[in-house]
Amino acid sequence: MSPFEEFQRYKTHPSIRPFLEGGKRISYGARAITAGGLQSLPRLVFPGGGLIGDNAGFLNASRIKGSHAAIKSGMLAAEAALDALSVGRSGDELTAYPDSFRSSWLYEELHRARNFKPWMSKGLYTGTAMVGIDQIVFGGKAPWTLHHDHADNETLKKKTEVRPIAYPKPDGIVTFDRLSSVFISNTNHSEDQPVHLTLKDPGVPVNVNLALYDAPEQRYCPAGVYEIVTESSGPRLQINAQNCVHCKTCDIKDPMQNIVWVAPEGGGGPNYPNM
Ligand SMILES: Cc1cc2nc3c(=O)[nH]c(=O)nc-3n(C[C@H](O)[C@H](O)[C@H](O)COP(=O)(O)OP(=O)(O)OC[C@H]3O[C@@H](n4cnc5c(N)ncnc54)[C@H](O)[C@@H]3O)c2cc1C
Ligand code: SF4
Repeated sequence: MSPFEEFQRYKTHPSIRPFLEGGKRISYGARAITAGGLQSLPRLVFPGGGLIGDNAGFLNASRIKGSHAAIKSGMLAAEAALDALSVGRSGDELTAYPDSFRSSWLYEELHRARNFKPWMSKGLYTGTAMVGIDQIVFGGKAPWTLHHDHADNETLKKKTEVRPIAYPKPDGIVTFDRLSSVFISNTNHSEDQPVHLTLKDPGVPVNVNLALYDAPEQRYCPAGVYEIVTESSGPRLQINAQNCVHCKTCDIKDPMQNIVWVAPEGGGGPNYPNM
């Protein structure tokens, strides 16, 4: 399944298309949502620093809202930092920050939503029914806590277990191709910056990903960064890193966790000048 193509197809639905026809495509971007919630939060502090906002994973996936959580976690970290600096501390761990998070409304909110993602990963119908029971009947205070029992990259099906989906060609009116979309994402990488996408083992893309999963990076990447190119010596993975829109999906979804994603230099986009 290709999320990009699915979204193009979604726009052709008779209930959606009329809202878009006659409009003009003005920008493009893509982003993986940090949906793990409370149970996926890492240790929040380290000597001299702390993790706040989506960096840590404070987003409330049940509401798809994270701005308020990013602001609140930033405030809690800043208050802890101010207290530390005002008594001359620096460079050690801001343990007051995770402590104040635990007694904040943000912790309570995320605790109420803690089972959302684990339930939804059990399928749409089971998930919807059980989230309803969890949230409406128990008001988020159900006497159970579900855990994430596998990592995202462990959920791909082998190519022998599925049928490829034949997506329609873009019409250039409401549906578009990836590369022209990337062009209007206003993402920019300076030419001499270090490559921010590398492989741990260059053999894995062909020997494992292509052989078992028909190279899923060709489909889940919303920017066409990963291409299987067939040459006389056989297939190889080409990484068009300059197209990357920094959604971070490859870092999460690569079945063998072979792709190394590092932050590119300079926060190069996407930029949304019209928003
Ligand atoms: C599609 C979508 C819809 C959403 N809808 C909602 C909603 O309706 N309501 C809501 O509350 N939340 C929503 N969210 C969640 C919300 O956007 C995030 O939780 C929130 O923006 C997190 O804020 P943040 O400051 O932690 O991170 P971000 O907003 O991601 O900010 C991080 C910033 O760091 C910059 N950066 C990254 N790397 C570098 C670098 N190397 N150098 C310099 N700068 C860098 C980035 O460009 C970015 O500007 C949505 C998220 C998505 C993806
Ligand atoms: S290369 Fe990775 S981070 Fe960049 S757009 Fe593709 S999936 Fe997203």
